[in-house]
Amino acid sequence: MAKVKVDQLDKSYGDLKAVEGLSFSINDGEFLVIVGPSGCGKSTTLDVIAGLESPTSGKIWLGDEDITELAPQDRDIAMVFQNYALYPHMSVQENMSFGLKMSSDYDKETIQEKVQEMASLLGISELLDDKPKELSGGQQQRVALGRAVIREPEVFLLDEPLSNLDAKLRTEMRTELQQIQNNLGITTVYVTHDQIEAMTMGDRIAVLNEGQLQQIDAPLELYYNPANRFVASFIGSP
Ligand code: ADP
Ligand code: MG
Repeated sequence: MAKVKVDQLDKSYGDLKAVEGLSFSINDGEFLVIVGPSGCGKSTTLDVIAGLESPTSGKIWLGDEDITELAPQDRDIAMVFQNYALYPHMSVQENMSFGLKMSSDYDKETIQEKVQEMASLLGISELLDDKPKELSGGQQQRVALGRAVIREPEVFLLDEPLSNLDAKLRTEMRTELQQIQNNLGITTVYVTHDQIEAMTMGDRIAVLNEGQLQQIDAPLELYYNPANRFVASFIGSP
């Protein structure tokens, strides 16, 4: 059974069809990348999965549960945005434990242990007492990731999370993110407009254009057997 299923999703804003007839499944533990040019409906798709937007029509399934009507906080889904806002007055430790305190019954010691474990996995153990403004962009992004995955959500959604980082850091974080996802085995949907990011990170890639799914396949399959001209030119070297 698929972990997440997007079923005949339509999302319109007035006359504009942001997403049209979109259907695909994400397997348990899979790293799926959604890629396509700016404005093709990537964020809209992710927002609907997260419950931040409701679909015009269509359904979202989490396992065998129809979650289309569930509020975001009632879905076992965590999301990280491009503009990850950390709480500026809280330390790294507090930023990472805040959500757990709110959403779980863990006692203080357990929460502390979990924060330390996650910090170690992310290589930010040294920074637990620092405030966000004392951190570099890459360190802040790590805290944002840690804060999201520490809740051990069933599904992890990332919307262009590396776009604000410089090229070198972006390459590093790509690899790290993959390792973290691999270690935790969390079903992940990762949105990017960057073909290289898609090709290097995804188990499978869903290519979107103008709100419609063009192809969903393993990276090399897209490369060698593109379903159409758009996929060929978008994924192949220009
Ligand atoms: P992407 O993330 O792929 O760049 P989006 O999903 O953000 O694309 O947007 C898809 C289309 O929907 C774009 O044409 C965008 O302008 C439009 N759109 C997105 N959000 C809204 C909104 N809240 N109101 C009106 N139009 C929107
Ligand atoms: Mg977007």
